[in-house]
Amino acid sequence: MCSDVVLVTGGAGYIGSHACKALARAGFKPVVYDNLSYGHEAAVRWGPFELGDILDSQRLSEVCERHRPVAVMHFAAFAYVGESVVDPAKYYHNNVVGSLTLLETMRACGVRKIVFSSTCATYGVPDVLPIGEATPQRPINPYGASKLMVERILSDFGSAYDLGWTALRYFNAAGADLDGEIGEDHDPETHLIPLVIDAASGRRGPVSVFGTDYDTPDGTCIRDYIHVADLADAHVLALKALCAGAPSDVYNLGNGQGFSVREVIAAVEQVCGRPVPARMMARRPGDPAALVSDATKARKQLDWRPKIPELDRIVDSAWKWHQKASR
Ligand code: UDP
Repeated sequence: MCSDVVLVTGGAGYIGSHACKALARAGFKPVVYDNLSYGHEAAVRWGPFELGDILDSQRLSEVCERHRPVAVMHFAAFAYVGESVVDPAKYYHNNVVGSLTLLETMRACGVRKIVFSSTCATYGVPDVLPIGEATPQRPINPYGASKLMVERILSDFGSAYDLGWTALRYFNAAGADLDGEIGEDHDPETHLIPLVIDAASGRRGPVSVFGTDYDTPDGTCIRDYIHVADLADAHVLALKALCAGAPSDVYNLGNGQGFSVREVIAAVEQVCGRPVPARMMARRPGDPAALVSDATKARKQLDWRPKIPELDRIVDSAWKWHQKASR
């Protein structure tokens, strides 16, 4: 059994903090390593916190020596697609050089397992839906490209050195911890569900619908929303599989069901019992019309079963978190 220390880079962030909770519940000891550039120290609740940057190999070594992790879960990354287009240097430096620094430090410290936070943005605009892991990866923005580069580095390190790795390609992470302990708290917020909830509650003005002329049934973009706690569970399963000797691999994580922007707005209206003011806008550059996963591989090989697959339950958890956070 691999019930030991896991170093969680970016563990003070949205998905990382949910992963820490899932790790602790599974008997692991999560140590959060985060520079707090976007994360929140208040979200570190299931183990020690170490302030540090993934680009700082000395600090990383110190933390590895102190805690002796058996594995790393690597969430620390910049993740704003639009920003990556206007400032690609920032993304390649942090996401690629930072990940390489982490991997080199892990090698030096003898840490031989990593679960990496990848993304469906590595696929770009797919020719066919749903998207399986064998779909060609042709990212259309520097964010997706930076994640794909790290996947390649992992694969090469895995072949050359004694490194076991799993890359998890998430679709659209959404929702919040069902116990209300943690949730989505981005600044700036760019994601659809929290913005629609903010519009419903009056915290912000009308939500912008980016594009109504896509080749989809209602003209708006379709995405596959996956509950953050289900993502967190998949990380623990992937880690356990690695610890049990499973080969390095990649997995899509999604519900396999697509919802349009209009359908998300309707779901929020139903859950909140309030109308959502919306304004129709031009397309947002870099948005594919539809992204829907085929996550059969994770179901079969990791025995992963999303527990909160329904959009209304995902939205409901986000709404409850929003109400708690705004009190
Ligand atoms: N979207 C929107 N208005 C917003 C934010 C997002 O219409 O204020 C759309 C966006 O164009 C995309 C979908 O909602 O089609 C999901 O966007 P999000 O930024 O949440 O995630 P992404 O798919 O970009 O990772």
